[in-house]
Amino acid sequence: MNFQDNAEEAAFREEVRTFIKTEIKPDEQASELAERGMYRGAFERLKGLREKLATRGWIAAAWPKEYGGAGLDVMRQFIMNEEFAQNRIPPVGGMGTSMVGPTIITHGNEEQKKEHLSRILSGDVQWCQGFSEPGSGSDLASLQTRAVKDGDDYVINGQKIWTSGASHAHWMFMMARTDPDAPKHKGISYFLLDMKSPGVEVRPLTNLANQDMFNEVFFTDVRVPAKNIVGELNRGWYVGTTTLDFERSSIGSAVGLKLQLDGLVKYAREHQTDGTSRTAQLGSVKTELVDRYVEASVAKLMSYRVVTMQAKGLIPNHEASMTKLFASELTQRISRTGMKVLGLYGQLWGDGAPMKGRYESSYMTSLSSTIAGGTSEIQRNIIASRGLGLPRD
Ligand SMILES: Cc1cc2nc3c(=O)[nH]c(=O)nc-3n(C[C@H](O)[C@H](O)[C@H](O)COP(=O)(O)OP(=O)(O)OC[C@H]3O[C@@H](n4cnc5c(N)ncnc54)[C@H](O)[C@@H]3O)c2cc1C
Repeated sequence: MNFQDNAEEAAFREEVRTFIKTEIKPDEQASELAERGMYRGAFERLKGLREKLATRGWIAAAWPKEYGGAGLDVMRQFIMNEEFAQNRIPPVGGMGTSMVGPTIITHGNEEQKKEHLSRILSGDVQWCQGFSEPGSGSDLASLQTRAVKDGDDYVINGQKIWTSGASHAHWMFMMARTDPDAPKHKGISYFLLDMKSPGVEVRPLTNLANQDMFNEVFFTDVRVPAKNIVGELNRGWYVGTTTLDFERSSIGSAVGLKLQLDGLVKYAREHQTDGTSRTAQLGSVKTELVDRYVEASVAKLMSYRVVTMQAKGLIPNHEASMTKLFASELTQRISRTGMKVLGLYGQLWGDGAPMKGRYESSYMTSLSSTIAGGTSEIQRNIIASRGLGLPRD
């Protein structure tokens, strides 16, 4: 592959860089807040970010122009994501722009497009994803939440779990079983559900880092209009697993890993304990830092591979699994190395801690990176069967 932009790509990269520098003007504080996942604070500092992005269709840059996107091709999306990640600009869209919006564009009817797409772009409506259940995560098609037809509605009973952002989401895109007698992949439908509907109960779950990031969601006789089914009845599995032609290189996380390492190296260089620089005390941790640096560069190359395939019209399969597996396990290794670089200070929380407690928090949250979005074991299964041609277990 060619690592250099062609003339058009270089011009677009320059356009994005100029836009970031002159219009968004990210400052250190906004970047820090974004890096710690405190998006609301970051948005307050980056005033007008949403409006500025909206004028160019860059809130959902991959969406077609007719729906308010910029219709960017895969390479331009990649360049934009890379430059935004490099400048630590928080994503404004969330699951609305990246997941349910594209699904509605591909499978939804005109009424659903009219009702939801502009509200996703304006940020007025936040979405959450109701897929996983207590007994159905990796084997998602075994889900048990039921939806039973009653007049013009479906009545939903059951439970979802690990639902990120459900406590502040206005709507949920979810899958429920509409035909319990059909083979498991063929009796599921894809619903859009108003979280204010009577019978929806959200109970926050506190994670290791003491954040109420995800939730349990219970449904007791929740009525959802039949018109809120996206795509065909009982074909929801295929709606939910639609392979959308979007940039899926995970370049944002690969760039993030490199930035994290830059921060660690800077800390080690500048920090002193007992009059001695931290670098001089690192010993073998120095070699670990180097290993992580090499690995972070490999993660970036894997992202380039995925995007190159997409730009050629190929669908990355086990290649995307390799990228996810490697980057998520590397996230954990970097966090462990980070804790060694910081020493006992790494256990401190809050603003007075080194790097404002970023490492303590990322050490805790990194644990989930090999679970969310498909566990490492599942990625290895995909690589074994589709990549290496080994038999399925
Ligand atoms: C931070 C975070 C955010 C999340 N957000 C959401 C969300 O917003 N919405 C949502 O719907 N879900 C969400 N999830 C849930 C996530 O999709 C599931 O946790 C994930 O798919 C794994 O499912 P599970 O937890 O049920 O584990 P299980 O599937 O029960 O797996 C348990 C263990 O068994 C292993 N295992 C399972 N099957 C196999 C197999 N065939 N071969 C080998 N090993 C196997 C797994 O690798 C794992 O180690 C989130 C999870 C996390 C961690």
